[in-house]
Amino acid sequence: MDREITCIECPTGCTVNVAVEDGKAVRVDGFGCRRGRDYAIAEVEHPVRLLTTTVPACGLAVRMVPVRTSRPIPRDMRTQAMEAIRQVRIRRAVKVGDVIIENLLGLGVDVVATREVV
Ligand code: SF4
Repeated sequence: MDREITCIECPTGCTVNVAVEDGKAVRVDGFGCRRGRDYAIAEVEHPVRLLTTTVPACGLAVRMVPVRTSRPIPRDMRTQAMEAIRQVRIRRAVKVGDVIIENLLGLGVDVVATREVV
């Protein structure tokens, strides 16, 4: 199977073609530099995404606090991650970058606030 991936590592946006066999990249063409080649291989073999969402707040100035993962997480763990985040309520003032969930699902990634709320 061939996959066509748009590299997002720089504004050039090269179209990288990846031949995939058994979930592995076996041939990569079209990249403008090594960064794009590595990005396309990772996108095929181990895709990751930053997860952004909101967490309900109790007793604060807003009802929802925007949060995101501190680093990208495996794309196929997004549903589990959302389930874990859904269990949380924020009951204290937070600053940007405050950890809301430490070590989400044991991934070594935190969930942090992206807005100050008092
Ligand atoms: S392959 Fe290199 S030049 Fe092309 S978009 Fe990706 S980072 Fe930019």
